[in-house]
Amino acid sequence: MTGRWAGGGAGWQVRFLLVVTALLAAPQVRATIPGEERGRLLLIEALENLGGADRIRARSTWLVSGDGSEDLSAEMQGVSTRTTWRRHEECLAVDTRTLAVAWERKTPRCDWSLRWRRFLLGADSSGVIDFTGGYGVLRARATPAERRRALARRVPQLLLLEAVTAARRAAWVGERRVHGDLLDLVEVELSDGAVVLMQFSRAPTRFHGVEYRTHLPARGDVTVSWEWPAWRPDPGSPLPLVPIGHRLSLDGRPFQEVTYVGFESGVDIGRWFTLADTSRASVPGPPSPVAGAAGFPAVGEPAPGVHIGNVNGFVVLLVEFPDFVVVMEAPDAQPGFEAIPATRPAAVVPRAHREWVRETARGKPIRYAVVSHHHGDHLGGIRWLAAEGATILVPPGDVPTVRALLTAPHTLSGDTVDVPGSAVVEGVDDRRVIESGGRRLELIRVGANPHTEENLLAWLPGAEIIFQGDLFYFGDGQPFPPSGRDAINRFFADWLAENGIAPRAVYGVHNDGAAGPEALARSRPPTTDPPRR
Ligand SMILES: [Zn+2]
Repeated sequence: MTGRWAGGGAGWQVRFLLVVTALLAAPQVRATIPGEERGRLLLIEALENLGGADRIRARSTWLVSGDGSEDLSAEMQGVSTRTTWRRHEECLAVDTRTLAVAWERKTPRCDWSLRWRRFLLGADSSGVIDFTGGYGVLRARATPAERRRALARRVPQLLLLEAVTAARRAAWVGERRVHGDLLDLVEVELSDGAVVLMQFSRAPTRFHGVEYRTHLPARGDVTVSWEWPAWRPDPGSPLPLVPIGHRLSLDGRPFQEVTYVGFESGVDIGRWFTLADTSRASVPGPPSPVAGAAGFPAVGEPAPGVHIGNVNGFVVLLVEFPDFVVVMEAPDAQPGFEAIPATRPAAVVPRAHREWVRETARGKPIRYAVVSHHHGDHLGGIRWLAAEGATILVPPGDVPTVRALLTAPHTLSGDTVDVPGSAVVEGVDDRRVIESGGRRLELIRVGANPHTEENLLAWLPGAEIIFQGDLFYFGDGQPFPPSGRDAINRFFADWLAENGIAPRAVYGVHNDGAAGPEALARSRPPTTDPPRR
């Protein structure tokens, strides 16, 4: 216990609270207590009502498992901007002695491929188990303490304990009515400098939730709200109450609704931090790799005027014409809402992208910026391209999303771009050809696919190169198909065959290297249907 509010034992707190609670009962008195004093009292009282600092601190392990649903569209990763609910199962194991955290989620992606992973985050180790792919890795490399602490805060008792014993500052800043209940609001600067707004219901003072502001690449500034709206008695435990579940929302839109199937403390969680659990994996092991397309480098200039770059892990395209260039994809990093607060990308990727484009374009203006689909990791960096005067080309259904993004507030990302009101956004209905100086680039609308309702790809018929986002996944020298990607890869290989397009190389935003005809062929297993008569 090191914070400025640390006290020796809880006795003084309880006596103090009795007096203060009586005082607070009188509204005129409540109003006269300064914000810092009032905030601190609320935090202490709420912690007492959950068992008190000493008892919570004595629970050195926590194990929370939940079952519920997640709307991927709320974080702009759905099939459209309407709802994309998927079942969501999760488990969190925390060892507070070493601040080791195991975090597991089992949630289908928008294309129904299963994302089932456990991250093992320790003070001297980091690992992941991919249950879908059937493998795990554990390395002797520490996970930064901030990352582990931000995940441990998902246990509301631990978040509240931190606010009482280690916060840098806290102050009551007002009240808010939610569903008829008046909530007290306490702004807290946590031990790592993260500023959150904690909420408490009254009579008795109960920890209700926490919110913070962050930046969502495809939407702009958002408020992220965590609520533990109801608590139940826990007779077998030294703690009086445990939450029955959590609700997570973005700008008031529900993102995750989870009921806790288990909420335990003081139990053995050792097995959560080993690879032994890979035995639960659904397939025996990763499939074998397929070689990349011969003669097509992962980055560089695979054909004259066709440039492939890698910007902080995102693969991007620039096609050079005599008087202008066309760029494809405007990446930004997607924050991970599993942590409190979510990691914030702070415009790092768009800035790196801008540098690469400026270097590669050698002074030629950017006439068009093409975006494959509305997900934040493909669209989030579009603002600087609009400010450069590029016409933005997207699938027609994504035009409203892009327009909204250009004008939304972006104060939290470090983005200082000034997007002109004259920015042009156009939908590509079917196919759009950009041709100049003997070079031809075709933008083709793929339309509905397992990943999203809309998608646009780039086809360079001269070089026989395709560049696409989230339709085909490939990693040179890595298991093929990548974990969970078999269905979407098959869709795309079929789509190419049906449309008579036979590329020599397929690049992708999240790929590593160029896939060739061999990878496409292996994505279309021979049909097992009986032959037609
Ligand atoms: Zn996507």
